[in-house]
Amino acid sequence: MRVLVTGGAGYIGSVVTAQLLSEGHQVVVVDDLSTGHADAVPPGAEFHQLDVAALDPVLGDWGVEAVIHFAAKSLVGESVAEPARYWRTNVVGTVALLDSLRAHGIDRIVFSSSAATYGQSKEQPIREDAPTAPTSAYGSSKLAVDLALADYARAYGLGAISLRYFNVAGALRTSEGRYYGERHTTETHLIPNALRAASGTGEALPLFGTDYPTPDGTCVRDYIHVVDLAHAHVQSLGVAAPGIHQIVNLGSGSGNSVREVLRTVRAVTGSDVPVAEAPRRPGDPPVLIASNDRAADLLGWRPTLSLRAMVEDAWEFHNATN
Ligand code: UDP
Repeated sequence: MRVLVTGGAGYIGSVVTAQLLSEGHQVVVVDDLSTGHADAVPPGAEFHQLDVAALDPVLGDWGVEAVIHFAAKSLVGESVAEPARYWRTNVVGTVALLDSLRAHGIDRIVFSSSAATYGQSKEQPIREDAPTAPTSAYGSSKLAVDLALADYARAYGLGAISLRYFNVAGALRTSEGRYYGERHTTETHLIPNALRAASGTGEALPLFGTDYPTPDGTCVRDYIHVVDLAHAHVQSLGVAAPGIHQIVNLGSGSGNSVREVLRTVRAVTGSDVPVAEAPRRPGDPPVLIASNDRAADLLGWRPTLSLRAMVEDAWEFHNATN
């Protein structure tokens, strides 16, 4: 299949592009490089440095049959301070993309959504029919696109799948020895920052909150390997059906606390992680765990890689790129 990947120069987009290519698909990557890196676009993909809102004049020439849409802003804290940027890029940009797809008769899309759409869900594990109550403009922008996809599916026959990710980690090393991993200029995520702290190249890791109502007082999250996540995207392309929008959570179905993650980082790196206990980070719910029953039923998808594998692969990536 010939697939357009928006945001294919970013973390998850580059891994999915590499995965698609390795399975024999053709890939056209569009990325404005506002946060992505040109050298993260896998060789073999056709690359265009463009905004997703500017595709209309060129999309017809590319012959794509389906789209996987990652291009978005993704910093939760920044979204609370500057919501306009999130509504403009993530929502207005995506609506422009959807209208270009309509204009060119492309009727299949897999969308990079997020567990942030659920907010502080009381129900754990979280099913796809749980109430949505995002606590940030990032979460609101992902939910807004999910709602738009449902409307476009109903009215225009679009086949759409929203994949709601929980906590993604790890990296891909291809058989040619290339690495694709997390390389954000502003890094807020636990595992890459803990690896930096363990390697002595960064500051002590702020541990946000030790008084949560969880077994060890730190937040519990559902971690999923980016390679498992990539498989779910490729499987979704084959499942997206005209006129139907489906939402699918992607997680392992179980959780690990921040302290458990830090113990795994210590075991993998052989170094202590210097930690500075800090107040809770605003908006962090105590526990977020996915129900992955629908992913199994609809996509035939199951996670295969452990937290230990995520940390090992992220560590290999860290060492290969620093
Ligand atoms: N966290 C932390 N220190 C950091 C980054 C994250 O204690 O430097 C905690 C954060 O409060 C949350 C968990 O680690 O409880 C996972 O955070 P991350 O930003 O990786 O993902 P999120 O769950 O916010 O999407």
